[in-house]
Amino acid sequence: MGIKVVKFGGSSLADANQIKKAATIIKSDAERRYVVPSAPGKRFSDDIKVTDMLYACYEKASLGENFSEDFAKIMSRYNEIIADLGIDLSLDEQFDKIRANLATAGREYAASRGEYLNGIVIAKYLGYEFVDAAEVIVFSDEGVMMRRETRAKLRERLAGIERAVIPGFYGKSLSGVIRTFSRGGSDVTGSLVARAVRASVYENWTDVSGILVADPRVVDSPIVIPVITYKELRELSYMGFSVLHEDAIFPVRTAGIPINIRNTNSPEDAGTMIVPDSDTDGDVATRTITGIAGKKGFCAINMEKGMMNSEVGFVRDVLNVFADLGINVEHMPSGIDTLSIIADASSLEGKQEQLLSALRRAVNPDVLEFEPEIAMLAVVGRGMRKTRGTAARIFASLAHGRINVKMIDQGSSELNVIVGVHENDLHQAIRCIYDAFISSTL
Ligand code: ASP
Repeated sequence: MGIKVVKFGGSSLADANQIKKAATIIKSDAERRYVVPSAPGKRFSDDIKVTDMLYACYEKASLGENFSEDFAKIMSRYNEIIADLGIDLSLDEQFDKIRANLATAGREYAASRGEYLNGIVIAKYLGYEFVDAAEVIVFSDEGVMMRRETRAKLRERLAGIERAVIPGFYGKSLSGVIRTFSRGGSDVTGSLVARAVRASVYENWTDVSGILVADPRVVDSPIVIPVITYKELRELSYMGFSVLHEDAIFPVRTAGIPINIRNTNSPEDAGTMIVPDSDTDGDVATRTITGIAGKKGFCAINMEKGMMNSEVGFVRDVLNVFADLGINVEHMPSGIDTLSIIADASSLEGKQEQLLSALRRAVNPDVLEFEPEIAMLAVVGRGMRKTRGTAARIFASLAHGRINVKMIDQGSSELNVIVGVHENDLHQAIRCIYDAFISSTL
């Protein structure tokens, strides 16, 4: 029998009703043995997450201000959950301790208590053992999670426990201080637990039925991606898809454990499977395109120079100028006598004039121009390798939508085609490609 590690996000545990749904999911499959909860999230759109309430409370406490009203609100969120779940549990002792330590134990300690308390509540409700993350997630004194030590501790602690709840988001440093990951870090805890117990799958339960092919604010009701590889996800995340905490990928990816994104409010949906790259060989049902993502905020530096192609060291000299000014080069499409550098516009702030004069000095181009307001669009799909004419279809759809393409870049892996357009055209471009590759096949 395999082991499943299940992580539930804040909206999946925002109140007793949501926790009941999560518990039904957990209990419906005996393989779901280790549960990683977030702190209670928003119950409605204007609500405040418990983690944010704790940060606010800490700010007051650390300034010596009175935080009792804020703290009372946090206590009542948990007390309400406990009452509605009908469990015999009092958190009074924990509340007293947290209140006493709030000002002195640090901001990360304060924030971590959301998961800590929720873990105790959920363990009680499920009848599972509570394993404090402070015992098993190890941080260095600089606040960096220590992979090997964490894995060893998790393995040792969970070895004899059939079913447990391990709160997400935090751990303890070597010198005993509570530390947290960055925001959304319960995803990382789930991944670490999955890796340590050699799970067959890491289920990440949230409030959407998987990763969507395109941003739903841009495309009307986009379909869910059934299967995506880690590599594809990385390409899409770089262009703005936010699905999981970035650091949640590495532990499971290296162990070849798939992640399944599922919806607590719609557990019958299969969600999205994020799989190691090798799993998809022979995946005949794959669509040509897995996802489309776009990001604004780029700019281009376009250069033209006669006989550029035969000038040895031209590209090196250009890149040196960027490196000397600490500007990261994102893309570098080129022609025989032309070269464009695409960079993040914010990295050029205050340096534009300096950059242009340095380029003039370094390579003396015939034409040198700065083009602002560029958006980059990534069309990602492992299916592209097997399909002929994909690029033609992408550009035909953009031409049909009267979109001017400023730049094209295809990675050597044939996993993605990157297209540069004016920022104002980005959304329309995404819609055109979605229509051509997805809507037309539904
Ligand atoms: N509760 C933390 C946050 O709001 C961590 C998490 O939910 O993953 O960022």
